[in-house]
Amino acid sequence: MFEKILIANRGEIALRIQRACRELGIKTVAVHSEADREAKYVKLADESVCIGPAPSAQSYLNVPAIVSAAEVTDAEAIHPGYGFLSENADFAERIERSGFVFIGPTAETIRLMGDKVSAKDAMKAAGVPCVPGSEGALPDDSREILRIAKDIGYPVIIKAAGGGGGRGMRVVHTEAALINAVNMTRSEAQAAFGNPIVYMEKFLENPRHVEIQILADNYRNAVYLGERDCSMQRRHQKVIEEAPAPGIAQRHIARIGERCVDACRRIGYRGAGTFEFLYENGNFYFIEMNTRLQVEHTVTEMISGIDIVQQQIRIAAGERMKFKQRDLEFRGHAIECRINAEDPYTFIPSPGKIHFWHLPGGPGIRVDTHVYDGYTVPPHYDSMIGKLIAYGDTREQAIRRMRIALSEMGVEGIKTNIALHQELLMDAHFIKGGANIHYLEEMLAAKGEVKK
Ligand code: ADP
Repeated sequence: MFEKILIANRGEIALRIQRACRELGIKTVAVHSEADREAKYVKLADESVCIGPAPSAQSYLNVPAIVSAAEVTDAEAIHPGYGFLSENADFAERIERSGFVFIGPTAETIRLMGDKVSAKDAMKAAGVPCVPGSEGALPDDSREILRIAKDIGYPVIIKAAGGGGGRGMRVVHTEAALINAVNMTRSEAQAAFGNPIVYMEKFLENPRHVEIQILADNYRNAVYLGERDCSMQRRHQKVIEEAPAPGIAQRHIARIGERCVDACRRIGYRGAGTFEFLYENGNFYFIEMNTRLQVEHTVTEMISGIDIVQQQIRIAAGERMKFKQRDLEFRGHAIECRINAEDPYTFIPSPGKIHFWHLPGGPGIRVDTHVYDGYTVPPHYDSMIGKLIAYGDTREQAIRRMRIALSEMGVEGIKTNIALHQELLMDAHFIKGGANIHYLEEMLAAKGEVKK
């Protein structure tokens, strides 16, 4: 096992990784920007190194500074968390070339899955169901493009091979608009991602977002840890996640999970990863793979009893996974509410000093946060300040516990989205389960209409 790990991230996930390290008896190095100097988790780490000023480009994305922090502290491995450099193949390569272990898949795998065209090809070859669409990249010939769209059937969506974060996509409803849309997506993709390659998919109108968590070691052992439903989204940002996905039969999940596990073996995947699917009319359609830990890994931990962060570390250290698929059992139901420092309805970020902070507790409640009384939320980063997770034997119990937890939670000094969560947890459609990815935005739009 490693003796010391450097955590190349900040906020709640930096603390989450630190806790996993401590439980494994591993020393930690916190790297931080000038804005995060006073954070308690930075002080709790065995060592800390300031890697630059507040803006992420100069600190949390500053590769040379992170590598030298690892050198001066003699860290052996680097955990990238999520966001920042976690899916940057060049970073992973640089880490490994400098003699450290990158806690994640190989740079080659990150590159393969980071290009959506090659990722989709690899998934098709592994028998993972994909959204019907073009065979790889779209050709230059307009007539050919029109023919492909006709075969798929409108509406279609044009997506950039190098796209990410919900950018580089365009929905097309009619033949007349197609060629122009393809050209525009190409030039935007070139400008934003330095890669003009685009491909086409059938646009699914009312899907749910359902994803499969996997773990794979270096010895061809791979398992799936069940699924998560993350359909409650606003502007492609997840707001609430839950496991299992309401109303989807476990044998259906098992079938798709087996395909994902197979795909992991074929591409030599190592570590934790997530296969994201759109789910519509009883079918799964692969859209992309995240080659890293995800924010919502917590709900899977609650229903599986597996500590995903510790597994990532063990796998990176070369250990064999100690369990097989048949040893795993998914029990109960878990829901996660992302707590953001923002106005609950305008979503305008609300950084600043928190002068009252009270956390909920009790059976089945887990809170992952780096925040404390007197903490100042810096304006430079993502607005998520914590995650509230409720577990119950049933979905109903998890919902009841989450409502109580939300009502107990107290935050003063900044605005949070707690009120929005409270409303969603009382919403008939959410309570029923199985809402699609447009539901939250439609609900918010309807509310706006009422207010007007
Ligand atoms: P990104 O990497 O930018 O997040 P994804 O491929 O994961 O891109 O797609 C992001 C979101 O775009 C999906 O969650 C979904 O809401 C929408 N989307 C992508 N592909 C399709 C599709 N074929 N049909 C309908 N919606 C889609």
